Amino acid sequence: MSPTTAASGALFERARAVTPGGVNSPVRAFNAVGGTPRFIRSASGAWLTDVDGNDYVDLICSWGPMLLGHAHPEVQAAVAAAVARGTSYGAPTEPEVELAEEIVARAPVERVRFVSSGTEATMSAIRLARGFTGRDVIVKFAGCYHGHVDSLLASAGSGLATFAVPGTPGVPESSTALTLVLPYNDRAAVEKVFAEHGDRIACLITEAAPGNMGVVPPEPGFNAFLAETCTRHGALFVSDEVMTGFRASKLGQWGLDGAVEGWRPDLMTFGKVMGGGFPAAAFGGRADVMSRLAPEGPVYQAGTLSGNPIATTAGLTTLRLATDEVYAHIDAAADTIKAAAADALSTAGVAHTVQATGTMFSVFFAEGTVRDFGDASRTDSAAYAAFFHAMLDSGVYLPPSAYEAWFLSSAHDDRAVQTVLDALPGAARAAAAAQAPELETR
Ligand SMILES: *Cc1c(COP(=O)(O)O)cnc(C)c1O
Repeated sequence: MSPTTAASGALFERARAVTPGGVNSPVRAFNAVGGTPRFIRSASGAWLTDVDGNDYVDLICSWGPMLLGHAHPEVQAAVAAAVARGTSYGAPTEPEVELAEEIVARAPVERVRFVSSGTEATMSAIRLARGFTGRDVIVKFAGCYHGHVDSLLASAGSGLATFAVPGTPGVPESSTALTLVLPYNDRAAVEKVFAEHGDRIACLITEAAPGNMGVVPPEPGFNAFLAETCTRHGALFVSDEVMTGFRASKLGQWGLDGAVEGWRPDLMTFGKVMGGGFPAAAFGGRADVMSRLAPEGPVYQAGTLSGNPIATTAGLTTLRLATDEVYAHIDAAADTIKAAAADALSTAGVAHTVQATGTMFSVFFAEGTVRDFGDASRTDSAAYAAFFHAMLDSGVYLPPSAYEAWFLSSAHDDRAVQTVLDALPGAARAAAAAQAPELETR
C-alpha cells in the first residue's frame, strides 16, 4: 500500500505558488519520475521522516554530504557550541584554519580557499586557471557537472574540436564560446583538441570520477593521461572532487587512482562532505597557482560567508570522524546493496549495469558498460521511474532521477540495509512491467 502524501502534497501546492516548480533545486521536484515530492520534516542516522510521518531509508544523503548520517551527535554538538559563539563575523577564525589544514593533510593541495558552494569553487578555479596561464579556452566533458557556472553549462558544438553552445537559455553564446566539450574517457578526442587549440587552453576540468551522469569510473590511467596532456601543453589540470572528495574514499578519487598512478592535479575543487551538511566548498592546489589569488596576487575572488565558523566547524568535525572504519562500513553496505540490486533486476529480467568508484555506485537501467554520456543516455527512464516509486512505497528513498549516484553513510546499519534488500525484488518486478518494449526486429 502506498504511504499517504497529503501533507507533502499540500506543502507542494503552497511551494509552487511562491517558488518556481516548488523547489530550490530542480531534481527535487520529481519531474523525472512523476508524483509528489516528499517534504522532509526530520532525519536521523540513515532515516528520513516526511511531513506525513512516513519513514524512509535515505539513499541520497543530501546528494553526498551526510557521510556520517543525519543528526550525528558529535557534529550536532560541535555546531551547537559554534552557534552559541555567534554565527558569522566577516573576519578570520580558528575553525577555517583547522579545516584548511585537515584538507591540505589529506589531499594533494598546498593551499585552499573556502567558498560556500561547489559552483563557486569550480567557477573560481577556472578564473584562477585563466589568470595564471593568461589563456582563455577551457575544456570539459559531456555529462560531467560542475555546478551551474555559465561557461560550464555548455553542450558540444557540431564537431569534436569546435566550441560549445549554451546548454540552457540565459547563458549567452559568448559565455560558452571559449568552452570545448568532449566525450568522457575518449583519449583521441582530448589529443585532437589539444593538438588544435593547445596553446590557447587555460585548463581542462573533469569530475575526478563522474557521478553526475550516474557513476562512470575513469578508465585506468585516464586521469593520469589528462594531467600529462595538460602539463605538456602548459594548461592546468583541474580535478573536480566536489562529489568524490572524502566520499569515494577517505582521500577521494585521488586516493583511489591518483595515489596509485602518480598524477597530481594543479587545482582541485571540494564541496559536499567537507561541509558536513552546511554550505561550504573549497578550491585548492599548487602554491604557485593559488598565490595568484587576491590578496596575495591579482586574481579577484571573495565571499561574505566564505569559511564561516558554523560550516567549517561542521566540516572539520565530519572529516575528523571520517576514519578508515567509516569507509570500510560504507563499502560493505554498498557491496551488499549492489549485489542485491543486480540480483533482483536479473531475476525480473530488467536490463541493468551496476558501476562504482570506491563507496559511490549507481544502477544504470541499460545493458553494458557505461563509458560516457552517450552510453548513460541509453537508460530506460520509464523502468527507473517505476522502480523508484516501488522503492519509495516500500520505505526507501532513492535519487528521483535515473542518472544519479546512490549514497550511503556510516549510519546505514543492518536494519536500514535489510529494508533496502526487502524492497528490491518487488521494485524490480515493477520496473520489468514498465520497461520500454523492445523494438521488433524485421
Ligand atoms: C554537486 C557538484 C557541484 C556543484 O556543487 P553545488 O554546491 O551544488 O554548487 C560541482 N561539481 C560536482 C562534481 C558536483 O557533484
